[in-house]
Amino acid sequence: MNRPEAAFSPLTAEHLARWAEVYVRQSCIGQVRRHGESTDLQYQLVEQVVAWGWPRDRIHVVDNDLGQSGTSAEGRKGFQYLLSQIALGRVGLVVSLDASRLARKNSDWHRLLEVCAVFGTLIADGERLYDPRVYGDRMLLGLSGMMSEAELHSLKLRLQNGARNKAKRGELRVALPVGLTRLSHGDVVMNPDEEVQSRLNLVFRKLKELGTGCAVVRYCRREDLLLPARPLRGPAPHDIVWQPATISRVLDILKNPAYAGVYAFGQTVRDPTRRKGGHPHSGIVHLPIDKWDILLHNVYPGYITWEEFLANQARLAENQSCFQKDKSGAPREGQALLQGVLRCGRCGRRMHVRYAGDDGRYPAYICRSAESEYGGSSCQELRGRDLDAEVERLVLEALAPDRVAIALAALEELEQEYASLRQQWQLRLERVQYEAERAKRQYSTVEPENRLVARTLERQWEEKLREVEKVEQEYGTWQRQHRLEMTDEDCRDILALGEDLPKVWYAPSTTLADRKQILRLVIQDVLVDREREKGKVWFQINWQTGASSEHWFVRRLHSYDEHAELEALEQRVRELLAGQKKDGEIAEVLNAEGFRTARYQPFKSVTVYALRKRWGLPAARVNGFYPMRWEDGSYSVPGAASVIGVSPGTIYNWINSGRIQGHRASKGLPWKVVLTEGQIAAQQADRAQKRS
Ligand SMILES: [Zn+2]
Repeated sequence: MNRPEAAFSPLTAEHLARWAEVYVRQSCIGQVRRHGESTDLQYQLVEQVVAWGWPRDRIHVVDNDLGQSGTSAEGRKGFQYLLSQIALGRVGLVVSLDASRLARKNSDWHRLLEVCAVFGTLIADGERLYDPRVYGDRMLLGLSGMMSEAELHSLKLRLQNGARNKAKRGELRVALPVGLTRLSHGDVVMNPDEEVQSRLNLVFRKLKELGTGCAVVRYCRREDLLLPARPLRGPAPHDIVWQPATISRVLDILKNPAYAGVYAFGQTVRDPTRRKGGHPHSGIVHLPIDKWDILLHNVYPGYITWEEFLANQARLAENQSCFQKDKSGAPREGQALLQGVLRCGRCGRRMHVRYAGDDGRYPAYICRSAESEYGGSSCQELRGRDLDAEVERLVLEALAPDRVAIALAALEELEQEYASLRQQWQLRLERVQYEAERAKRQYSTVEPENRLVARTLERQWEEKLREVEKVEQEYGTWQRQHRLEMTDEDCRDILALGEDLPKVWYAPSTTLADRKQILRLVIQDVLVDREREKGKVWFQINWQTGASSEHWFVRRLHSYDEHAELEALEQRVRELLAGQKKDGEIAEVLNAEGFRTARYQPFKSVTVYALRKRWGLPAARVNGFYPMRWEDGSYSVPGAASVIGVSPGTIYNWINSGRIQGHRASKGLPWKVVLTEGQIAAQQADRAQKRS
């Protein structure tokens, strides 16, 4: 490296009056550690710049991008600083080992060239100086940038293909979760730490039991159970640390296929459109399982089976959102009992809950599929309470024979729960006892003369002993609080509870979420259709046992148009009217016969009146005005008189003489005169003859 020949040197006094920036960069921390040599070489550039005649006090080394990849300017503070300095006209020369190290991405590189050209800044690699304002130099620099990007691309491709090929054989070592350990010869076994194993098993079991990741977190927090983790970075990588449960930690466990013994590769892709500036790990998209690149079964020892893993994923996905189509969602505290299990009997999609009224006290089920998918009107909507009440009744009925069994199962579950928690405690105690034992051993191996070390180890031992004491105390408290000594009386109580499920169901301490949970234990889903028959709601319960049953109930309606028994009702009212009943009496008869109003209430005199008005039926009157014809088609006496054209008195005479047929229900009630068209014509003709 010699001083460039004066004749060709673009270096001027103007350049020398400004700063020289020496840019040092290695792609990752690993490179920084392993290729210290290369870094040294980069620092030697300073000497080179001095040799070109630059005053040492105006040379500045930019090295805060050490350990940053050059593929994009984003997140590289040094590179951005460099650009800004050049743009401020403060830089006379930018030096980098090979110039293209400044930026591996073509757009960044060209940006740099542009800026340097505008502000007259020179660019140098280890060998020579370039002036971006000179066409030849500019072309060389451009080419070198292109070559550099191409080189990076092929490098990446080779690495990725290599990794993929290795992964195909299951040989690419991927980071293992805490539950698995790789032995020195490469075999993978379950983490030999029993506490880790048992805690992980607990998480899997609790998901099955409680249904959601959040519930598992709450459970762990309540019972003070920490979760194991093995950080890949940090002060003590690969050591097991115990951390409080969070949703992301629980999901990390539940979603890791390695726990099902599966070796998976290519679970994620990067979506550049979803990247956020300044967040290098953003834009990662998790692929669905069937899109994973490589999936090899039975590579690791499994905590759960692959089927269980798939079931867990399905469950977590279901919980994810109620707003997404066909996801049932976890049971929530809302008023609607069938939230999440109700399907539309017309289109088969999940029905949503809508709360109406003051503070949303009136839940309604609505099928919005048509609305949301192609802007149609909602498929169907119905009041929540009636359907809830019906399903509740049927469920309690169905459970009756199994009540005792359920109670026994509950009892067993409590015992299992207790045993499993006790095991967790014992393992924790064992761990701290072991640590104390180890501290003691370490202390006893130190020569007593080595006071400095001995003091430290003694202190550590004491700390460990204190911790043992603390855990023992906590365990004791827990045992006192959770003592599960079942007396016969307790057993009887629990059995009684099971026998009396309705009492449990309606108990004030049973929350709606509890009820929903119980419901889901016995019911898979419910189909509902309010349009299948007029005025009635049809529903089908699909029980968890695989059986299904169909049911109907009468809907409460706003108008009689939808009344299920409208025709029968009208027929009956006409009959009763013909029988000379008053509105009040008709109401009584209808109620006795089981008819109900549109709102499913008993009839009253006013409701019968309203119905008569609706159908245009006159009231039956014993005295005073009679209608022309009665409901059964027979004529009243005044009606018959006016049709034939005689006086009512004549009609009475004719009935008495038997000339026309008439009858009455009882004495005092009006006559009903039976007249056919022929009879009327004959009587009219007779009258006309007599007159003439
Ligand atoms: Zn529908």
